[in-house]
Amino acid sequence: MSLVDSAAIKRLADWDGDRLERLAAAHDTPLYVTDHDRIRENFARFDAAFDFAHVMYAAKANTGRAVIQTLYDAGADIECAAAGELDRALKAGVAPEDLQYTAVNPPDRDLDYAVDLWADTPELTITAGAEMTLDRLESRGFDGRLAIRVNPGIGTGHHEKVATGKDAKFGVAYDEVPELVADARERFEFVGLHAHVGSGVLSGDLDDHRRALQKVADLAERVGSLEFLDLGGGFGVPYRPEEPPLDIEAAAEMVREVTDGVDATIALEPGRYLLADAGALLTRVNTVKETPETRVVGVDAGLTALIRPAMFDSYHHIRNVTGGDREPVESSVGGPLCTSADVFCTDRPIPRAEANDLLAIGNVGAYGINLANQFHSQPKPGEVAIEGDDERVTRRRETFEDLTRLEDEVPGDQ
Ligand SMILES: *Cc1c(COP(=O)(O)O)cnc(C)c1O
Repeated sequence: MSLVDSAAIKRLADWDGDRLERLAAAHDTPLYVTDHDRIRENFARFDAAFDFAHVMYAAKANTGRAVIQTLYDAGADIECAAAGELDRALKAGVAPEDLQYTAVNPPDRDLDYAVDLWADTPELTITAGAEMTLDRLESRGFDGRLAIRVNPGIGTGHHEKVATGKDAKFGVAYDEVPELVADARERFEFVGLHAHVGSGVLSGDLDDHRRALQKVADLAERVGSLEFLDLGGGFGVPYRPEEPPLDIEAAAEMVREVTDGVDATIALEPGRYLLADAGALLTRVNTVKETPETRVVGVDAGLTALIRPAMFDSYHHIRNVTGGDREPVESSVGGPLCTSADVFCTDRPIPRAEANDLLAIGNVGAYGINLANQFHSQPKPGEVAIEGDDERVTRRRETFEDLTRLEDEVPGDQ
């Protein structure tokens, strides 16, 4: 099978249930399982569709070392939007010249880090989204490769909290860009324009997305003499089982059309598209309660393990791995935290869950483990990589010692 012919989406039903049961038994739950073969397939499909573009992986989707290594080995450069991400990418073995840094309200220490890195690696491109960032870079002696992030004034995507294109926080106001570019040409090696306008774009959103990208491409034509035009990420995956996948060929054709008049390399920074369907979160049922409204199914993963439903109202499909052939009943699945936000679904038909059943939550490979937190003193889940028949722990499950480690390390008794 050619990598590029792979199915456009790996559904939760496609995961081998026996293998998930074995992994949960061996590594305990909650557990993230990340399918690295699938990451490779996703990258190959994206890279083939966008064969005219420079493809970077937006590392914030999952900054785990193993994931960065898999995508870097597959040929992706790495886009980092924080110094901590640069540091983790370097520790994963990425050569500094294959990194790009996007500065969003960068703390001083982040700029110091990036400028230090540039001092040894003049290939590093820094993207700034505010005039003041240019000044702060110049005051640190930086006069290297600089790109300017544009705010096109239009956002696209599945949720207002990720429709960055119309949020004034991101990028330089559209009409102010040409003047700032002229200024940047005096002070730096100005190389490109950048825009990341939204996230979760599916086929039905392509027209909106086209309008936003067209605005950015028009600006690129006006500004002229660019080495690259970076159009960010934002390519979506279907979270619901009945939703069709994004037609990536159509998306590529759209980008090609929009940038037809732009004489520059087109760069892209997918995150979610490469990873989402490569991840499943395994969680064990501990409590079942029949109420007049619904069947309440208590599991050991909470919003601390996967915050997207609570934070973005995201739908994540849930499979009863143990009892998949049972009669579906309306169920509300929630975790161990004392907040009503700690639910993965309400009144959703799921094959009747019993205590000790294993459930799998789908499409968690992007913005899953990376948004995990320790609220309510919940140790973060472990992560296992699967690759062919191989299985390896890529992040160990946290323990109670990890919850207090940073307090224990404070020196001395005052
Ligand atoms: C988050 C982000 C991306 C990736 O977005 P996806 O929706 O995951 O593809 C790309 N570029 C920048 C600057 C980002 O902040």
